Amino acid sequence: MDPNKIWSEVLNEIKPKVSPVNFKGWLSQADAISLQDNKLTLSVGSAFFENQLRARYLNLILETLKKITDQDISVDFKIDPSKLSKKTKDLPSEDFFEFSSQPPNLSYSLNPKYTLENFVVGLSNNVAFAAAQAIVQNPGTSYNPLLLYGGTGVGKTHLMLGIGNALLNKNPAMKVKYSSSEQFTNDYVAAIKEHKMEDFRNRYRSVDILLLDDIQFFSGREGTQEEFFHTFNALQGKNSQIILTSDRAPGEIVKVEDRLKSRFQGGLMVDIQTPDFDTRVAILKAKCQEKGENLPEDALKLIASSLDTNIRELEGRLIQIIQKLKANNLEASIENISSFIQTSVVPANFDYKKVISVVCNYFNMTQKDLTGPNRQKELVLPRHLTMFLLCEELNFTVQKAGQILGGRDHTTVMHGRDRIKRLMNTDRDVQKTLIEIKQRLLQ
Ligand code: ADP
Ligand code: MG
Repeated sequence: MDPNKIWSEVLNEIKPKVSPVNFKGWLSQADAISLQDNKLTLSVGSAFFENQLRARYLNLILETLKKITDQDISVDFKIDPSKLSKKTKDLPSEDFFEFSSQPPNLSYSLNPKYTLENFVVGLSNNVAFAAAQAIVQNPGTSYNPLLLYGGTGVGKTHLMLGIGNALLNKNPAMKVKYSSSEQFTNDYVAAIKEHKMEDFRNRYRSVDILLLDDIQFFSGREGTQEEFFHTFNALQGKNSQIILTSDRAPGEIVKVEDRLKSRFQGGLMVDIQTPDFDTRVAILKAKCQEKGENLPEDALKLIASSLDTNIRELEGRLIQIIQKLKANNLEASIENISSFIQTSVVPANFDYKKVISVVCNYFNMTQKDLTGPNRQKELVLPRHLTMFLLCEELNFTVQKAGQILGGRDHTTVMHGRDRIKRLMNTDRDVQKTLIEIKQRLLQ
């Protein structure tokens, strides 16, 4: 039997049964390479594709093979990274969800790009990830709602869609709806205008899982809040799982009714923090793998240390650097990459020696005290301030700041820097100290 012919028959058979986006995004990305001893081998671009195909479609593929050939044929995968660059361009684009109107069963599907499998877990997000797994195990019961909150680009939407996709994998008949609070508002306003409230309510209240992104935009919209309050109660009443995201803790969202806030807070709230260095490196590694690019670890570390909050921007920088390297036909060396990164760094008109001397002067201590191993309590704040200033004002990598401070570990530097970042918003003494030191630095 010709493997290509069989596989294309299988695809033809499957095509009407899945949504066009998923067909194009997953199934048509695989090619048949051999059929021997009742085993069909398919080539795919990455382990990620293999996992997705296995989880989503393996049963369907096996059944279809049986139907077509009347034999028990097993399926195996072979990873061929050269496929990635060619075919992934056809993957579903930025749309986070797709609602395919496939009669008679409405099939819900989410952008398959965002999964739990390709969500990199680190210290900044492991609690949120554990919550996500718990919900996939047991939706609608223990943690309802789940509220994920954290800054921009830290992975809230990704994790939320990852839960949705995992639930759909487990049970494709599940109705999973993704929307944002803005979309909800627009739908609501349109429904009132067009006298289609019943339609609207059906759409939002009939689902098993509601994923609602960026609830901070409910702020100040009283009518919508009222409607959402009832949506929420209806869903919770029938044990539908609700997952919400917000760019801040619910207590900090202004102009949202208290009763709605208390609903938001009534389940499990977990924050996703800004990713630590190791997580950023791991994410960059994963993104390279997905794109079929190969950058040395040192290069990834350099890129990871150049940006420390927003993963979306980090990914953007990675892509930019890969493109620049290609456009200039340069190899991915530390030198080449750091020259790209440096162009975006604003030079300060003082250097690290001045930082050290000003901090020592300010606290009336010696340079040896500051950089030495002594762990006396009084030395902690000056050290942390120095870490913060080196990283934030001079854009030093945490590794380099660690070296300057007597060979301290980069994670120690990150901890110190982040502590000051926090305290400068909450602790008046630290604020005052920082301002005075900065003034001295600029003199
Ligand atoms: P948010 O909703 O918090 O603003 P997103 O979920 O849109 O952020 O994430 C921004 C980008 O960063 C996306 O491309 C996402 O895939 C990626 N990203 C964020 N966190 C992770 C992670 N832990 N592992 C892999 N990719 C991540
Ligand atoms: Mg988001």
